[in-house]
Amino acid sequence: MEPPMEQVTANVYTNTRIRGCNPSYVATDDGVVIIDTPQLPTRAVAMREEAESHGPIRYLINTEHHVDHIFGNYYFRGAGTVVNHQGLYDNFMVVAPILDPFAYAQEAIPTDDPEGAAIFPDREEYYRDPNKGSIVFTGDLTLRVGGTTFRCLHTPGHTPGQLAVHVPEEGVVFTGDTIFNECQTWLMTSDIEGWLAALERIRTLDFEKLVPGHGPITDRSALDDQRAILLEWKAGVAAAVAEGLSREETQARVNFKDRFPVDVGQEYMMDYIMSHNAGSLWDKMTARPLRDG
Ligand SMILES: [Zn+2]
Repeated sequence: MEPPMEQVTANVYTNTRIRGCNPSYVATDDGVVIIDTPQLPTRAVAMREEAESHGPIRYLINTEHHVDHIFGNYYFRGAGTVVNHQGLYDNFMVVAPILDPFAYAQEAIPTDDPEGAAIFPDREEYYRDPNKGSIVFTGDLTLRVGGTTFRCLHTPGHTPGQLAVHVPEEGVVFTGDTIFNECQTWLMTSDIEGWLAALERIRTLDFEKLVPGHGPITDRSALDDQRAILLEWKAGVAAAVAEGLSREETQARVNFKDRFPVDVGQEYMMDYIMSHNAGSLWDKMTARPLRDG
């Protein structure tokens, strides 16, 4: 039996217990706003149905371009207008050397959503219309739906097009993966300095409940916890670089495996996350501009 969506406030629902991000929706007096979509096909279809029971879907906002936040958009075609930051839009399901997002979405099906196989599109069909944004913006954007405000705040760091969505009437902020709560943080596409600034920006907002990108619903104490783990990663890799360790030596030494589990369904990725986190930070700390002469 599938666990139901969790009710966060009177009009806010999320799902923190399935593989993928924490897909959420907000019911207003003039329809529904979706924030991130389930990666698993049957969960995407079920969430759409549940959301539509509160009224028509007006907007679908994605918080970042990683596959676990956007793949399910495919199952929301024809339901509301998709809203993406430009930095997200430009990276939407783009195949990168370390990760093919379509293959990653497909890889989860046999273990996590076998019934989803029947509605999983082939690659060509998917890329014909993955349901990317049609409102694409830079900076911040505010939407009003009925009496509810959705402040889409550009908070880059985890990814370049990262958004936090602040809904003041509900006292909720959806941080996307700017917060990994009680689970491992993914740093591969990150800019740590930007990320630390993003945490401080979120700290200035007025809210009681914080819906993270991964892990259970929390509050503003998660901002300090996330800052601590970012600083620890940075310090650990910086010390290795300072000692002159190679990329491989740094990967062998620096990890935080014992600190948190990996989020639901990705337990087998612990070593992948640790080595790519350390390697990507080493690359950034050792990158030198070309010198002339
Ligand atoms: Zn994520």
